[in-house]
Amino acid sequence: MVDIAGTFEPAKDIEKMNAGIFKAFEKTGDTPFELKELHIENPDKLFVPVSVLNELRRLLYAELEPEKIKRDLPPVNFKTPQQPGQIQDSTIVPNMSPKTPKWLIKTDDIQNVSQIDLASCDEISVLINPAFDIKTLAALPKEKVRISLPPVIRQTQAMQRVIDALSAQGFNKFEIANLSGLMMVPQNADISFDSFIPVLNTQSLASCFELGAARVTLSPEDTLDNLKKLTTLGENVAVCLYQDPALFISANCVRQNDCRACNRKTLHAQISNGKNKYELISKNCETVVVPQTPLCWSDEATTINAAAYRVDFCYKKYTPTEARQIFETVRAGKKVKNTSSFNLKKQFA
Ligand SMILES: [Zn+2]
Repeated sequence: MVDIAGTFEPAKDIEKMNAGIFKAFEKTGDTPFELKELHIENPDKLFVPVSVLNELRRLLYAELEPEKIKRDLPPVNFKTPQQPGQIQDSTIVPNMSPKTPKWLIKTDDIQNVSQIDLASCDEISVLINPAFDIKTLAALPKEKVRISLPPVIRQTQAMQRVIDALSAQGFNKFEIANLSGLMMVPQNADISFDSFIPVLNTQSLASCFELGAARVTLSPEDTLDNLKKLTTLGENVAVCLYQDPALFISANCVRQNDCRACNRKTLHAQISNGKNKYELISKNCETVVVPQTPLCWSDEATTINAAAYRVDFCYKKYTPTEARQIFETVRAGKKVKNTSSFNLKKQFA
């Protein structure tokens, strides 16, 4: 039984209200339920906003779903906001230079890293999907693997099964790309926050650590001056030096079908708006658009001075040789050819 208390006004049109209630509870989405019967007891003929009905439905179906262990978000303490620049939070460990930076790789295809000397990298984040084959991880040193969740998860149940299976196999490092990921990963997991969770100031960085982030990767949309400020604040702050930044992500298939009989094949297409060229990639019935020119900041790594650097091989197709050459170029502090620094040198007034 779930309930929500509130002050409600009489409905102007009770028929419409009842239809609205039915519509709200009919939406069972990803749950294993379907609505068969609905009894409405509303003797005072009150009006309840759709947002309240939706919340009630969400709570109700969550309570009914036994296998969905009620993973609560970690407690968040809302404190009086500090002034930017005055942050003195104990959760932030100052990044004391000089140091040896950590090297991280993120990939959605393990083939990409097959020629890279993994002894030279500290961690490999593997981007999973609802149809992810866990067996492919056997090729990697388990202690270095971090499981990366995408920012958009539509098939939540299928994804949860993948996460639970990985957890059962002893994988305990996860990366979330959306705060709702906190409810999907095991409670005792080591959780890092991916750059899809935008961190562009000290307040948001502190909030991530308060939410339990073991590491935060800063935004690819940031500028050099701001990155420099943020990297001095955290031993656990990473910056991605090479990636194909996702400009658009949809958990929908690019094909016009309902995917039940989909061939699920990877599809690459070049698209252009007349000025810029982009690559559209559909993998596992999900669609991503990236610019044709990758982002590369490796020539500025010494200025950025982060405690950890990441190199991403996601979405676009890379041969193992290309990926190894890119990783080595980035590690050497050189800019990879035919790349862009995007906003890095831009001055925002
Ligand atoms: Zn499909």
